[in-house]
Amino acid sequence: WSYSDMRGFAPLLGPWMWFKLYWAAWALLLAVFARLLWLRGRERGLRARFYLARQRLTRATVATAAGAAGLIVTLGGFVFYNTNVLNKYRTDSEVTALQAEYEQRYKRYDSIPQPRVTGSKLRVEIHPRRGEAEIRGSYNLVNYNDVAIDSIHVATSPRARPEALAFDRKAALVLADVERGHRIYSLATPLQPGDSMRLGFEVRIRQRGFRNESYDAPVVANGTYFTNHWFPQIGYQQGRELLSAGDRRAHGLAPRPVLASLYNVEARMKSSGRVTLDAVVGTDESQVAVAPGRLLRTWKEGGRRYFHYSADADAGSETGFFSARYAVHESKWNDVTIQVFHHPGHSAHVERMLRSVRASLEYYTKNYGPYRHRHLSVVEQAGNGTGMHAEAAMITHAEGFALWNPKDGAGRLDLPSAIVAHEMGHQWNIPLARVEGLPVMAEGLAWYTGMQVMREHYGPAQLRRLMRFMRQPYPYPQIRRGEPLLRGQDPYMAYRRAPFALHALTEYMGVDRVNTALRRLIEKHGSGAPPLATTLDFYRELKAVTPDSLQYLLHDLFEVNTFWEFEADRVTAEKTQAGTWQVTLNVRARKVVGDSAGVETEVPMDELVPIGVFGRGEPGDELSAPLYLKMHRIRSGKHAITVTVPREPALAGIDPYHLLDWEEREDDGNIEKVKIGK
Ligand SMILES: [Zn+2]
Repeated sequence: WSYSDMRGFAPLLGPWMWFKLYWAAWALLLAVFARLLWLRGRERGLRARFYLARQRLTRATVATAAGAAGLIVTLGGFVFYNTNVLNKYRTDSEVTALQAEYEQRYKRYDSIPQPRVTGSKLRVEIHPRRGEAEIRGSYNLVNYNDVAIDSIHVATSPRARPEALAFDRKAALVLADVERGHRIYSLATPLQPGDSMRLGFEVRIRQRGFRNESYDAPVVANGTYFTNHWFPQIGYQQGRELLSAGDRRAHGLAPRPVLASLYNVEARMKSSGRVTLDAVVGTDESQVAVAPGRLLRTWKEGGRRYFHYSADADAGSETGFFSARYAVHESKWNDVTIQVFHHPGHSAHVERMLRSVRASLEYYTKNYGPYRHRHLSVVEQAGNGTGMHAEAAMITHAEGFALWNPKDGAGRLDLPSAIVAHEMGHQWNIPLARVEGLPVMAEGLAWYTGMQVMREHYGPAQLRRLMRFMRQPYPYPQIRRGEPLLRGQDPYMAYRRAPFALHALTEYMGVDRVNTALRRLIEKHGSGAPPLATTLDFYRELKAVTPDSLQYLLHDLFEVNTFWEFEADRVTAEKTQAGTWQVTLNVRARKVVGDSAGVETEVPMDELVPIGVFGRGEPGDELSAPLYLKMHRIRSGKHAITVTVPREPALAGIDPYHLLDWEEREDDGNIEKVKIGK
């Protein structure tokens, strides 16, 4: 069970108590037996103890034991009724087996032509107190293939069996696999290329009793949240396939990569396009309902409150529906309406969040092109945790984020603002091909853009603190094996190496060039028309803006996994007769390239690396007072570098801001205290 301000103890405390009571009844019964058989003297042997037990058997003891047994039967029966009768009980291996069967039976339909959902119209009725929601909807389906389609495959959610699936033309149900959630309809007249049709459906989300597994009820008294995963989907669903190599082997499935190869041309042609949404959502009179899109109108009817949302630009692939007793904070940025839906008691975070939202809108529209929507919704989602998530024109966060208000002040990182800027960066993500490098394009670019907002609107010191935080090994320790960034797919590559690499480029060739490359990518691929964008498209734009002298750096950052290792060994300084200071740095440099198996090869290095000398900085930000900062040509091995600075130095080092050397160590090896001589 858990407690949150929005949900209270719902929905898990009840089931938790029933399970505990059931086991408490067992404990009581065992306690009775233990008392009867307790060893109190020198009795030996079971016979003697059973004899004693019979003598100790009083009416009260018998009554207690009978009571406990009765409770076990009734409570056990109740738990069984909830977990096995009201709800279907499935073991993990049964669930895995169903997933495997789904793939075995229907994978062959993966690449057959299917229509695409271009828009959906929904009427959603949420009943928070009953824990129920009904959705009546229809999809507009368009055949974008160049062949006619004669059968439609509909994937249904095993948790919410859709009722009343109906096409607006004659269709015969030829297969209905309820367990694995797959249906096939055969159309009397095929859907011609370019033609469209409608699919109507009804879905009922209902919580009946409780389940054996910890289960988040989607509709609760306060803090309802569910997504379109409950609705029927068109075509074979790759997302349902088993991922674990062991599970796949056990079920006789061929190994599958998590993402297709970067060079897979077919995968780039699969565009889901942009989807519009028109939703009327009704809920209790005391609650506010949220759906993707702009709020057009709200009204009361029959003791309920209704909200009409419309997403005419794009509703995103995952559409969420919310209902709670929200307070709504509304403001504007140019002609964009920003609505913050938050728990009334959680408002301390709103101003900080909005500042970052505005700074992001400002910076991104200026550098990457227009914001695609006329609204932005920020929605607090019931539940603990500090996570934040972006969908089209919508940012959602758990309650913990609202309660997270770090103190501002000297040397402190404003991480919540950086995270908001990152999520806002996702609003400029373009439709991407599901191939290697996808996470680099989605998360890496969101962090790169978020970092620019921090630098421009919060100051370079905030960016430095953010990057220092990002270099910490938690939660993404540096990995030194695997595919290069262009094909990167694990979180370290996406959330760390990609933004580090792009940041290095901004320092070597200027942020404007990198921004230009990103803007061109968005201009060329923002429409989502296939072929969809990959890291290769971004890389092409980067190459185009990179001067010849730095092409080697692009290669080192993106095409291979390069690791730069710098170390400042000893730094001394002497005051000159002119009153300046002569600083001598003894540094070491090494460059290695790691391959996918983790084998590292040292490569010769001969390139520009920053050398910095610093005076006494602000508390908590020791590198705030650079006395000298210049690129020096550095080769592999040991060097002594001498520079002159105007004032007394305190710290000095090689690559002091970790442009290239990203490994964070307890003692920052790149920087040393200056020893003053003479
Ligand atoms: Zn993200």
